[in-house]
Amino acid sequence: MASIRVENIEKTFGKFKALSGVSLEVRDQEFVVLLGPSGCGKTTLLRIIAGLEQADKGRVWIGDRDVTELPPRARKIAMVFQNYAVFPHLTVFENIAFGLRMQKASPEKLKANVERAAALMHIENLLERYPAQLSGGQRQRVAVARALAVEPEVLLMDEPLSNLDALLRLEMRAELKRLLAESRTTTLYVTHDQVEAMSLADRIAVMNAGRVVQYDQPMKVYQEPANTFVGGFIGSPPMNFLRLPVEGRQAKIESLTLDLPTPVSGPEVLLGVRPEDLEAHTVQQPQTFPAEVLVVEPLGPHLLLTLSFGKQHIKATVPPNFEVRAGQTLWLRPQPDRLRWLDPSSGQALM
Ligand code: ATP
Repeated sequence: MASIRVENIEKTFGKFKALSGVSLEVRDQEFVVLLGPSGCGKTTLLRIIAGLEQADKGRVWIGDRDVTELPPRARKIAMVFQNYAVFPHLTVFENIAFGLRMQKASPEKLKANVERAAALMHIENLLERYPAQLSGGQRQRVAVARALAVEPEVLLMDEPLSNLDALLRLEMRAELKRLLAESRTTTLYVTHDQVEAMSLADRIAVMNAGRVVQYDQPMKVYQEPANTFVGGFIGSPPMNFLRLPVEGRQAKIESLTLDLPTPVSGPEVLLGVRPEDLEAHTVQQPQTFPAEVLVVEPLGPHLLLTLSFGKQHIKATVPPNFEVRAGQTLWLRPQPDRLRWLDPSSGQALM
């Protein structure tokens, strides 16, 4: 087992800068998710770590080995791709054995490793089958077993669940979490699905436009986004951002005043607040501000409200039995320990 460390990786395709000075460390046995919108450079970073792509600048370490100049096969890395290609003409056993045969492993080692990887993935009773006789989820497990069979120091996965249908994907997510916790392989996993990232990761590296913009535990990234990009990208619906006037060390929302954690130089500040952290009341209460309900969407576990506050729109969630209709005024109380304050010009969190 080993850690992964990249330092100051730069990569340009023609004139397009795909990665701008990315540094990141994945600890031994840690599960890290690279999360970001399409085109932000996730796959490029993974391919550079695997040795399938050369960085213009920067270095890659696996454990204490500088592998920057090494070819892919010398890096002791296994990769599982989006289309998790399993070979249709090979049995499950032979699919899992594929990398070991390439390595010219002894017959004893080959058999032992295939059986161990298959047991870990709970497919030991499928070894004689062909891929066409498997479900999507089983094929997925074959691909992961094949990657683990070569005993990689690190495992790189690029959107391995994206080809599965929604229900299977949900099932495999929990399954994968359990299996990889069991195998304890250091894993770097790429996805643009924020729920998948929250579910699986020990830590999430959020990427935007070729940079890592925040690297922290899932709940930290959710509750304390480093900037408006992270707050907007993670969470569905995204975090609300309200532009508020500043008076001294306080921000004002109508008659409600909120203490700022640090002095603000400009006339305005951005308040970041999650939809579930706005407590709704039908009559005025202390520490609330009024907003008009525009849309009510019953989503099952809660109602999603869209409200207007001046020219700004706000999303808030309320319990499913909350009596509310469009046109009504509600009084919203932001939960004081859940507020995020940001600079309106840079979008970066204060402090
Ligand atoms: P997605 O979630 O859509 O897979 P990603 O974050 O993995 O996106 P990358 O595949 O790393 O993004 O690509 C980053 C940027 O670099 C994209 O704008 C892409 O078009 C560009 N890019 C990637 N590979 C090449 C290449 N070989 N030649 C030119 N441009 C490339």
